[in-house]
Amino acid sequence: AQERYASIRDLPAEAKCGTVVSLHMNAGLMADLPSLPSSGAEGVGLFRTELQFLIRNQMPKRAELSALYARVMDAAGGKRVAFRTLDIGSDKVLPYMKPNDEPNPALGWRAIRVGLDKPGVLRMQIQALIRAANGRPLTVMFPFVAQLDEFRAARAEFEKAMERERILGHPLPSDVQVGAMLETPSLGFAPDVFYREVDFLSIGGNDLKQFFFAADRENERVRKRYDTLNVSFLSFLERVIERCDAHGTPLSFCGEDAGRPIEALALAAMGMRTLSMRPASIGPVKHMLRRVNLRDVRAAIDAARDRGEQSVRPAVLEYLRDDG
Ligand code: PEP
Ligand code: MG
Repeated sequence: AQERYASIRDLPAEAKCGTVVSLHMNAGLMADLPSLPSSGAEGVGLFRTELQFLIRNQMPKRAELSALYARVMDAAGGKRVAFRTLDIGSDKVLPYMKPNDEPNPALGWRAIRVGLDKPGVLRMQIQALIRAANGRPLTVMFPFVAQLDEFRAARAEFEKAMERERILGHPLPSDVQVGAMLETPSLGFAPDVFYREVDFLSIGGNDLKQFFFAADRENERVRKRYDTLNVSFLSFLERVIERCDAHGTPLSFCGEDAGRPIEALALAAMGMRTLSMRPASIGPVKHMLRRVNLRDVRAAIDAARDRGEQSVRPAVLEYLRDDG
């Protein structure tokens, strides 16, 4: 199987119908970057920055972070890296920060909520990223944005940091993409202006699913009840895809489901054109996509929805049995 994947490494994830899906990798450590060329990923669709904060016993300094981010960009060799700003709180607690005693941490003071209320760390991180780019393109995304004004406030922090760097005479990134992660159902219903203002959206399916079904992602017992290929979840994703298409907003999916071949296939059939996953999943997902006709998969999905099935998984599996 490894050889089969190696043989398609430099080929596009092009389905039989001609649709091409762009495959990117998720990363969180410098040590992940060597997988970029060997996996055939087109870029890093999600770089989780919190690991750098979690593995230390004190807050990292801006210069250290900047040097690290620069090395990540160097290792990516000109391919895009989407740096996600710090997503702490909830399951990710920093040893050197006072823990919050919250009854529901996943629904609590975390990610961009912390970044906006106590902006010191967010500002430091943004400045480190701008300096690391040092005149190269820069892609930044904010985690857990739940409403328009949170994105606007986070972006304003970014613009202020750019202005400060300009005044200090530091080189600015040659191109800037500032996006949001869609991890709460509320963003699916955000006003049109949100879809126009973000440079891109990336669906954090792990959190989105947890909030969509009100089922804790850490709790096997409830998590397993809900299939990603559940028709309600797919309808929600369909709506987001349609809205992004209508506004020309680049959209990707970077939750764990993107790396599962059946799920990836269904996402692509629903119209998702960029998937980001752990490097080892890229071969299997590409192999799957190359053997199918996405229009036929979509027809199978729609037929299952018309029949009133709860999940389209059996229909997708049947398509694969009959067709591959
Ligand atoms: C997600 O929620 O799907 C995601 C990609 O972010 P994390 O798993 O780090 O919360
Ligand atoms: Mg998340």
